[in-house]
Amino acid sequence: MTVPDPVIELRSVAKAYPVAGGSFTALRPTDLAVSAGEFVTVVGRSGSGKTTLLNLLAGIDPPSGGSVSVAGRRVDRLTGSALASWRGRSIGLVFQFFQLLPTLTVAENVMLPMDFCGTGRPRERRARAMALLDRVGIADQAAKLPAALSGGQQQRAAVARALANDAPVLLADEPTGNLDYATSERVLELFAGLAAEGRTVVMVTHERDVARHATRRIRLLDGAVVADSATPAQAAASAGSAGATGTAAAR
Ligand code: ADP
Ligand code: MG
Repeated sequence: MTVPDPVIELRSVAKAYPVAGGSFTALRPTDLAVSAGEFVTVVGRSGSGKTTLLNLLAGIDPPSGGSVSVAGRRVDRLTGSALASWRGRSIGLVFQFFQLLPTLTVAENVMLPMDFCGTGRPRERRARAMALLDRVGIADQAAKLPAALSGGQQQRAAVARALANDAPVLLADEPTGNLDYATSERVLELFAGLAAEGRTVVMVTHERDVARHATRRIRLLDGAVVADSATPAQAAASAGSAGATGTAAAR
C-alpha cells in the first residue's frame, strides 16, 4: 500500500468525554505529524491521554474537534463499514492483553483479518499466516490455541495478526505491559524492525525504559504533549504540515 507522507497527521485534534455535569478534556488541541519509518513511543502516567490518542488514530473514537489523517484518509470523516474496512487494511492493532480469540488456533487468529478484508485468495491465507508466524518466530505454535502459549508468544501472535493485511501503520497500547523484561525486549525489537522497513509504529507505554528502542519519544501530561524528541527533520515535517505551532515545543 502506498501512503502519503506524513503517514499520520493531526491538526488541532482534541477529545472531550461527556461526564456527569459536563465534559472531561482527555486530549487538548494537538498537532502532530509522523512519517513512514518512525517508531514513536508515547509515554506518560496513567490517565494522561495515551489510549485516547491511540483510539483517535485508529478511528476507534471520534475526535471532538480537529482533523485526523492516517494512511491517506480523514479518519474523523469515516463511519460504519467504510471505517471498519479502512481500519482493517491500514491499521494493525496490538493490545496489552493480546486479545486473541480463544477458540481459534494461532494460525486462524492471524487469518481472521485477511478473511475480514478479503486479503489474498482464501486458499493462500493459511500460507500467508504461516509466513507471518515464522517472521515473529512462532511458526511452531500455529496449530495451538492461544491459551497454550506463553504471554510473549501470544503477543508475537498478535503482532503477526496486526501484519496480516500488510497495514502501513501499527498502533500498540502498552504491548509489553504484561510481559517480562526479556520477552518485552524481543517484542520491542520486532517493532523496531518493522519501523526500519518503512512501517509507521506508534506505541503507548508507561514504562520509560522501553522508549529507548524508539526513533522518537512523545510525552503526554494531562492530555497535552509536553515533550517531543522529534529530530529537526521530524519537527519540520510536523511544523510544515500541522501549522506553525508544531509539536516539538515542549510546554
Ligand atoms: P492513559 O491511557 O494515558 O492512561 P486515557 O487516554 O485512557 O489515559 O484516559 C485519559 C483520561 O480520560 C483519564 O482521566 C480517563 O479517566 C478519561 N477517560 C478515558 N475514557 C473516558 C470515557 N469513555 N469517559 C470519560 N472519561 C474517560
Ligand atoms: Mg491507557
